[in-house]
Amino acid sequence: MSWVTFDVRTTRRAQLVDITERVADAVARAGIGEGLCHVFIPHTTAGVTINEGADPAVAADIASHLAELVPKEAAFQHEEGNSDSHIKTVLIGPSCEAPVRGGKLGLGTWQAIFLCEWDGPRSRRVEVAVMRLA
Ligand code: ZN
Repeated sequence: MSWVTFDVRTTRRAQLVDITERVADAVARAGIGEGLCHVFIPHTTAGVTINEGADPAVAADIASHLAELVPKEAAFQHEEGNSDSHIKTVLIGPSCEAPVRGGKLGLGTWQAIFLCEWDGPRSRRVEVAVMRLA
């Protein structure tokens, strides 16, 4: 198994950042032919997901519609003022997986891996584990 950790600096409160190249680089350096890539983010107001990377309008739509689904100003108990960020992170989740085939990240043609920032700008840590499948 190979572990790689990297940091991503986000620039807006809500933002989907395409981290596909950095994850693909971690997979390539792992030297594992056939396996599984697990991407994890150790935060409570940011998540990771796989979705379309070809048209940036898709990421923009995801962010804008999640903002409508979970408004920032609502009757929340959490006093930090970022309950919407926590809830959007629950919806997106803290991890995602993709196959490793022929030593490369095996995403579909239109897929990309996104760090989903909901309470930025901040520095976020991304942990990539690449596991060999026997
Ligand atoms: Zn909070």
